[in-house]
Amino acid sequence: MKKRIIVNGACGRMGQEVVKTIVLEREDILVGVCDRINVGKNIMELLALDAEKLIIKDDLEGLIRETRPEVIIDFTTPTVVMENIRIGLSNGVNMIVGTTGITEVDLEIIEKMARENKANILIAPNFALGAVLMMRFAAEAARYFPAVEIIELHHDQKLDSPSGTAIKTAELINKNRKEDRGSEKEEIEKLSGARGADAEGVKIHSVRLPGLVAHQEVIFGGEGQTLLIRHDSYNRKSFMPGVKLALDRIADISGLVYGLEHLLD
Ligand code: NAD
Repeated sequence: MKKRIIVNGACGRMGQEVVKTIVLEREDILVGVCDRINVGKNIMELLALDAEKLIIKDDLEGLIRETRPEVIIDFTTPTVVMENIRIGLSNGVNMIVGTTGITEVDLEIIEKMARENKANILIAPNFALGAVLMMRFAAEAARYFPAVEIIELHHDQKLDSPSGTAIKTAELINKNRKEDRGSEKEEIEKLSGARGADAEGVKIHSVRLPGLVAHQEVIFGGEGQTLLIRHDSYNRKSFMPGVKLALDRIADISGLVYGLEHLLD
């Protein structure tokens, strides 16, 4: 069934890719595009798409009333995402959210909002299927290799660190490993932050450089061996199969689902 969709953050790197995917690859109808930049301009012209004119608006709530969407896809910024979710869910619209920076406390609030408004919301810190598998494999390896560190590498425009994927990976590892062999000795950090952030014993190191997109290494250490699990997103197209899967399934989930892995078999 064709869905009526609003893309929020449509002029951003991810938003543009989502707009192109909907216009070029889906039968769904893009009914609205929202952003804080390029307001009043025709997004189809900006993206050189041969499709009917669609003007960029900056008032999500007004756009919802005007266009009556079934789904909002949000790729904005960590500082505004909770307000966007509140607007979407309180209007009873299902949401697919890729914006990162959402905390455990936020998730509890979102879960309640979704339930009260009888709306569905899928939040995925990473829509790349390979990254979801990387997390699954890391969780499995943690059963046998409790000593582990994460290096996540992203482009230099990324605002939050560590990445949502790294935090999620650490959570999954911590659920599965029996002990942390690395946390007992007293370390001397000669430069603050040298040993990375501490996610309940899993060290996370964040690299930000131009040229990168989204990459992560999970390194397990054991007696005389290491195991490296690595995933690379080389461009933003890598996230689109996950976004399309979410679009296919959003009407069938119930309330809040956190993580694309719940949509895989
Ligand atoms: P970006 O900075 O290129 O785009 C963000 C867009 O949001 C900008 O166009 C900005 O003007 C717009 N915006 C800001 N505030 C807004 C508001 N209140 N209402 C509407 N639009 C608003 O960033 P990006 O690289 O496209 O990434 C967007 C988010 O998605 C980030 O949080 C990033 O970490 C995350 N991300 C997630 C995945 C994933 O797989 N889940 C993949 C890549 C990026």
